[in-house]
Amino acid sequence: MHQSRSKPRVNPATLTDLSLIDRPAAPCFLAPRGLPGSVSINGNAYQLEYHAIWQQDEGPAVIVGYRLTSRTGATYDLEVTPDGFIRCDCPDYLFRRQEVNGACKHGLALRKLLEDGVLAPPG
Ligand SMILES: [Zn+2]
Repeated sequence: MHQSRSKPRVNPATLTDLSLIDRPAAPCFLAPRGLPGSVSINGNAYQLEYHAIWQQDEGPAVIVGYRLTSRTGATYDLEVTPDGFIRCDCPDYLFRRQEVNGACKHGLALRKLLEDGVLAPPG
C-alpha cells in the first residue's frame, strides 16, 4: 500500500457560546473610528471594533476588517476575503486553519455576527 505523508488531522474550531454584550458602532463622520462594542466568545470577553479606511474624496468610510481585543490585551485582526473566507491573525488560524480555509473561533463568531446583521459587512 502506498504510504503518503498525510497532514495531521485538525478538528474544526468550535463556537460553543457567542453573546453580544455591546454592539459596536460603525465609523461615521461623528465617530470616525467608530465606537467599540464587546462580545463574549466561548466564555471569553473581547472588545470588538471596526477597522475602516476613509477615502480622500470624503465618501463614507470603507469597512475593511474587524478587531477583537481580549481582556489580556491581545488583539486579533479579522477580514473577510473576496471568496468569503474569514482570515484572522491569531496563532490558531495562522498555524492550523489558514491552509485549509478553515475558520478559528474568532472567525466563526464574526461570521455569525455578520449573518445575524449585528455587524455592518465589509465594504
Ligand atoms: Zn482567530
